[in-house]
Amino acid sequence: MTQRVFNFNAGPAALPLIVLEQVKMEMLDFHGSGMSVLEISHRSKDFEAVIDSAVQRVRRLLGLDDSYQVLFIQGGASLQFSMVPMNLAVDRRPVDYVNTGTWSAKAIKEARTLGKEVRVVATSEEAQFTFIPEKPPINPDASYLHITSNNTIRGTQWKSFPDPGTVPLISDMSSDIFSRRFDPRPFGLIYAGAQKNMGPAGVTLVIIRQDMLERVPKELPSMLKYTTYSENKSLYNTPPSFSIYVCELVLKWIEETIGGLDRIEQMNEEKAKLLYDFIDSRQFYKATARPDSRSSMNVTFLLSDPGLEKEFLAGAAEAGLTGLKGHRSVGGFRASIYNAVTLEAVKTLVDYMRHFEKKHG
Ligand SMILES: *Cc1c(COP(=O)(O)O)cnc(C)c1O
Repeated sequence: MTQRVFNFNAGPAALPLIVLEQVKMEMLDFHGSGMSVLEISHRSKDFEAVIDSAVQRVRRLLGLDDSYQVLFIQGGASLQFSMVPMNLAVDRRPVDYVNTGTWSAKAIKEARTLGKEVRVVATSEEAQFTFIPEKPPINPDASYLHITSNNTIRGTQWKSFPDPGTVPLISDMSSDIFSRRFDPRPFGLIYAGAQKNMGPAGVTLVIIRQDMLERVPKELPSMLKYTTYSENKSLYNTPPSFSIYVCELVLKWIEETIGGLDRIEQMNEEKAKLLYDFIDSRQFYKATARPDSRSSMNVTFLLSDPGLEKEFLAGAAEAGLTGLKGHRSVGGFRASIYNAVTLEAVKTLVDYMRHFEKKHG
């Protein structure tokens, strides 16, 4: 028997065990082809069925209407920091951003590098990014308004999205896509690197509305244009086929095993509540995000005695709990409790924290 740990990694992150088992089972012979999915053409019928199914599952799960296209692109969420302004900034109309932490800041930096007129319309920088400025000013002249729906590093999350009026909302949803239901209609574009909540690294999901595709400048290089991907069903060149295959299995797991986004949202709320309630009931631990802005995906916390941090992590590792070290820019701890992290994992973490406090508190 392989020994599996409770995995709280921020990304790449835990995948559902039954998905990994299916990948293992099909590894040498994909759907009776006598070949691995790693060895087949991206233009084969078998692979086309995989990518089509992944697209359909995304559409059903998020309730997307025909005005949206679902694309798979390489380059990570980080390439989207550049592709969004390259493709969607309109002449003489500034691009608006809300700065809620490291990833937002990187998106802002890329838009500036491209020479776009960037307006940071709201920020929580003065409070170490511990909260979400949920009601940013809306400027009707903006090309778009960009937000980061979940701040993986700081552990904050938009609980409701701003009403942008006629301005298209754009969101980096890398770390909370498919964790909850939301209304897609205000969004002109949504992007998410797969390796947090939907699959392996190497592929980025992009959901784009038709009116945004119409903005794409013709003179951009092919690989940097959304239209190249939409016109070729994400098969202009060789896509990261293995990553897309695993994403399809994860989406299937959400749809068919879990039962959809409402159910996964309930499960995620239950896990997050268990952990935050425990932390709040103690002087020994302290959650870093403001209660109204806390993420249900990444729970960031400190020890009242930072001198015990090393011991906390060592003891956690011994108890089979991994990935709890906070991001290097923030310190402390972070438990990433994405869709595939079980309630049992979170209960085991809380038991460990209780035990650690008894010993050292
Ligand atoms: C991880 C992460 C990124 C960076 O993703 P890459 O795929 O490594 O480029 C961007 N935004 C958010 C919110 C993230 O969590």
